Amino acid sequence: MSEDIYSKKREKLIELLREEGIKDERVLSAMNKVRRECFVDETEKENAYLNYPLSIGYSQTISQPYTVAFMTELLEVNPGDKVLEIGTGSGYQAAILKELGADVYSIERIYELYLKAKENLNKLNYNVTLKVGDGTLGWEEYSPFNKIIVTAGSPKIPDTLFNQLAIGGIMVIPVGDTYSQDMYKVRKSIDRNGKIIKSIETYKEFVFVPLIGKEGWDYDLR
Ligand code: SAM
Repeated sequence: MSEDIYSKKREKLIELLREEGIKDERVLSAMNKVRRECFVDETEKENAYLNYPLSIGYSQTISQPYTVAFMTELLEVNPGDKVLEIGTGSGYQAAILKELGADVYSIERIYELYLKAKENLNKLNYNVTLKVGDGTLGWEEYSPFNKIIVTAGSPKIPDTLFNQLAIGGIMVIPVGDTYSQDMYKVRKSIDRNGKIIKSIETYKEFVFVPLIGKEGWDYDLR
């Protein structure tokens, strides 16, 4: 493992996230452990600890650190949780979830990004179960999931993903049009009569690349 010359920059970023309102110390500590510079291109390494999204190629981005922290805080990850991520991208968010002790499954639709994320995660010894495919259809084989995090903007909450969420589970997903989205924190519970309840809290306002798939945006958008 190369020397960690970015640790000071990383600590500064964590301070900034704290100032911006991220309160969960477990999330901040996880973000202080994961080397974001290892998930971006060589030319972007110097920018890895700026609070910006960065390009990872194929018209896709690694999300802004604040957004990663905000979504992870909403997800309320406990050690041992089975977490499904839709939109592996660089693998950075998956690494944060691993640092929180989750058992992580992640789906990416672009094959080249899947390969790169696999390499990034392997190099840092993060053991994440990955696949290429349409994440709007979830991962039936491993369901139900305690938590689901969708890291691309969706026109709606995909029914299949909600069905694959465990009772008592939480899904965090940006929902809106292709220009801006609100962050939805979706809880799945069950009432006394056995009826499934979907309750939603929303938080303004985010901008994500589109979730492209059967229960997302049309394939020909891209
Ligand atoms: N979580 C990523 C990270 O930490 O680098 C950033 C994700 S990027 C903002 C969104 C990703 O979602 C892109 O890599 C995109 O290809 C992927 N994506 C879009 N639609 C998808 C789908 N239906 N299934 C799986 N991945 C999808």
